[in-house]
Amino acid sequence: MAKTLFDKVWDRHVVIPETPEHPATLYIGLHLIHEVTSPQAFSVLKERGLSVRRPDRTLATIDHSTPTLISPDGSRPYVTPQAERQVETLLTNAKTHGIETHGWDSPHRGIVHVMSPELGATQPGMTIVCGDSHTSTHGAFGAIAFGIGTTQVGHVLANQSILMRKPKTMAIEINGTLGHGVTPKDIILAIIAKIGIGGGTGYALEYRGNVFEDMSMDGRMTVCNMSIEAGARCGMIAPDQTTFDYLKGRKYTPKDFNAACKDWLSLQTDKGAKFDKTVIMAAEDIRPMVTYGTHPGMAIAIDSLIPPADTAADKSALDYMQVTSGTAMSGTKINRVFIGSCTNSRMEDLRAAANILRGQSIAQSVTAIVVAGSETIKAEAEAEGLHEVFLKAGAQWREPGCSMCLGMNGDIGAPGELIISTSNRNFAGRQGPGVRTVLASPETAAASAITGIITDPRSVMAPPIPCKPNLGSPA
Ligand code: SF4
Repeated sequence: MAKTLFDKVWDRHVVIPETPEHPATLYIGLHLIHEVTSPQAFSVLKERGLSVRRPDRTLATIDHSTPTLISPDGSRPYVTPQAERQVETLLTNAKTHGIETHGWDSPHRGIVHVMSPELGATQPGMTIVCGDSHTSTHGAFGAIAFGIGTTQVGHVLANQSILMRKPKTMAIEINGTLGHGVTPKDIILAIIAKIGIGGGTGYALEYRGNVFEDMSMDGRMTVCNMSIEAGARCGMIAPDQTTFDYLKGRKYTPKDFNAACKDWLSLQTDKGAKFDKTVIMAAEDIRPMVTYGTHPGMAIAIDSLIPPADTAADKSALDYMQVTSGTAMSGTKINRVFIGSCTNSRMEDLRAAANILRGQSIAQSVTAIVVAGSETIKAEAEAEGLHEVFLKAGAQWREPGCSMCLGMNGDIGAPGELIISTSNRNFAGRQGPGVRTVLASPETAAASAITGIITDPRSVMAPPIPCKPNLGSPA
């Protein structure tokens, strides 16, 4: 029977199939942990006298509560003693249980969804979980990857499996040619705006079509990262040569890489496989996007107008954002710019922002911070001189971590401020009490940093290189 990518990976990991009475028991190939959602799980393990079942399939990093500024004396000023305690507790627990950990001394430390792919720990055909919603990022490699709660973190630590009902499958197909200045971030915001924040509930998404086939791994990770914002259980893209080129030579990729690639290729959705639902969009219809409300589904093309508020919730979102239906988001004054997070903090994102900021100055009224997703990216960006571009333009170049995506480390805005952010959630107060967040691509964030107002990146980007004219055959 023809099978989808999701079905194939699911079938490989079912330990006990589901019944009407019981969810399936699913084996977990990789468990990623960080300082926020693991301490309580380790405490439960200790209380019950349990050990970690597969430390070799568990990988730890510190990212959420870590300061992004270093004091002149070299110390790291945590925002609260509790934040420091979280980090110390993770480091102690991981050491106790023999879990590979990327702490302050590791050149691979970084946001959990950035550093694991960089190490090649994230691989096609895996099941991957983490106590963080944006674990869906790893679906870019053709893995079933999803976020779990603290209690489930404990379960997976103890038995390396999880109880789960099989979701339905949804194909999101986008074919065609993307317009100038349209990025993977714009694509996923356009998808969420179309299907809604509940549109993916109960489904595993598979992104299909030439737009995703032509996309880099950095771009695929941006798209899959925000699958959760459409309510989906996970989002996936079939592994192909782009995936293999990215993984080749990384620390944890299989020794017989060619054999692994052959197997991974067999995971692609079979011809004739049926999805429970299919959504079709045209690449030509997608334009650079910005959000205007308080969830990622409240997103519009940057050159269009804010739609009418149909519900009380929509009206209150517009009130919170201090914006009005029928007006444009472009031209709105901004206070801060955040370029970072597990959505958009990889090399491709930093290069895109640097290309716009090179030789420019950030508006005096704007504070801009650029935060690489990992130590690896920071080093690579510095080797390319990108940090100098950001610093010369007037932005801050910070230490890697989640930073202003969530603000757990103290990187937040002031009440009432508007932040244009490359992160994934624009919920009220996520970047600080009373702070207004507008989600956008690194290109849009960088363009807005220069002007001090929300700006269409196409207005500052070099025009596309025209195709060679077809002169036809000589007469
Ligand atoms: S960058 Fe944001 S979404 Fe990503 S792991 Fe950190 S807090 Fe979660």
